[in-house]
Amino acid sequence: MSKSLQAIRGMNDILPEQTPLWRYFEGTVARLLDNYGYRQIRMPIVEFTELFKRSIGEVTDIVEKEMYTFDDRNGDSLTLRPEGTAACVRAVLEHGITGGGQVQKLWYVGPMFRHERPQKGRYRQFHQIGLEVFNLEGPDIDAELIVMTWRLWGELGLRDAVKLELNSLGTSESRGRYREALVEFLSAHVDKLDEDSQRRMKTNPLRVLDTKNPETQAILVDAPKMADYLDDESRAHFEGLKARLDAVGIPYVINPKLVRGLDYYSKTVFEWVTDKLGAQGTVCAGGRYDGLVEQMGGKPTPGVGFAMGIERLVLMLEALDKVPEELSRQVDIYLCAFGEAAELAALSLSERVRDQLPNLRLQVNAGAGSFKSQFKKADKSGALYALILGDDELAQQVVGFKPLRGQGEQQSIAWDALAAHLATCVVQG
Ligand code: ATP
Ligand code: MG
Repeated sequence: MSKSLQAIRGMNDILPEQTPLWRYFEGTVARLLDNYGYRQIRMPIVEFTELFKRSIGEVTDIVEKEMYTFDDRNGDSLTLRPEGTAACVRAVLEHGITGGGQVQKLWYVGPMFRHERPQKGRYRQFHQIGLEVFNLEGPDIDAELIVMTWRLWGELGLRDAVKLELNSLGTSESRGRYREALVEFLSAHVDKLDEDSQRRMKTNPLRVLDTKNPETQAILVDAPKMADYLDDESRAHFEGLKARLDAVGIPYVINPKLVRGLDYYSKTVFEWVTDKLGAQGTVCAGGRYDGLVEQMGGKPTPGVGFAMGIERLVLMLEALDKVPEELSRQVDIYLCAFGEAAELAALSLSERVRDQLPNLRLQVNAGAGSFKSQFKKADKSGALYALILGDDELAQQVVGFKPLRGQGEQQSIAWDALAAHLATCVVQG
């Protein structure tokens, strides 16, 4: 096939077989967020390149090598958003909705774009559900974010498959002192570090902690620990968060090497990780970014948020066999009509039924096909019942009502009684 007729590498179609699971996942999260009082915000998927450079940080993987950046026809440099926080902060500032200390609890969902090497769980267009909370500075809100995701894992049946990792990066002052100590340590071992870490040591030393190189990891065992450099306020904040997680009974591990890839984090950072997806193990990640709004030109405004990768969570639901049974059935009733007159009657009958049962999933297959082929389709649709309308039924103003899943014999139902009858046999969502 010619290349222009193929999707771009790492950008996937989500086919009709997969969308029920996506909608189940997104619907479950949306309902949960509604219940906790979060409100949805929708931002454009393109922003000025400068926005991402300024917020995410010049010396990060995203800005250095992952952004889709192009000049538009005006000559402005634009970028397909690689994440949601920058755009969300831009939006709240632009519309002044965090001014005067107003609390905002916001969430968003949509595609993100990063030029990475595509592999299972890692794509160039992927999807996140993220949330951001502004103007709440205590550990209670950090805890709420984590408690909410814990509830989500519970609803999805994933609790046993995920683990919470936590760390505190302190304030920018304490992180600065730690950075100095770390650079001093790394400098003393520079000849034993891998090339990537030698480079990062100069540009973004905390990222060295993130290395996947086992030899570098071995050296880091003796490196200074962030925990020893935390200021009192950050320490109290971290203790407050842990106490709340303990109170709710959410297990966690402290991972002193968890630094996250972006520059803007402070104090709390966390990741939910799984060993069920191979190398792409982080399904939800976030943290506090108290300095970001100010860094982007706003008044000092505490912020905290996270984002989860929808593809990875959908993969997990599949891998762990947690796809709800009912998703395989997208139709309740399948109506087969035979002949032109019956077809017309089927149309008006089905519309009458929809008037009375607006949530009924009723598929009408009028026209083409023999009795046998229509039944095959009815069966394949997953419907619980078929309705049959041919010349005989038409003459008597009834339909044949045929259970497709072994729930009894076929019966005749009068048109006037059909909606009431269907209401008793189909549980409506
Ligand atoms: P990773 O370490 O896996 O590259 P990250 O730290 O770059 O992740 P974040 O920017 O924190 O990821 O994004 C939050 C979540 O979005 C990740 O935990 C993951 O679930 C998902 N995610 C990030 N990048 C991708 C991608 N390229 N493809 C699919 N999902 C992704
Ligand atoms: Mg990444």
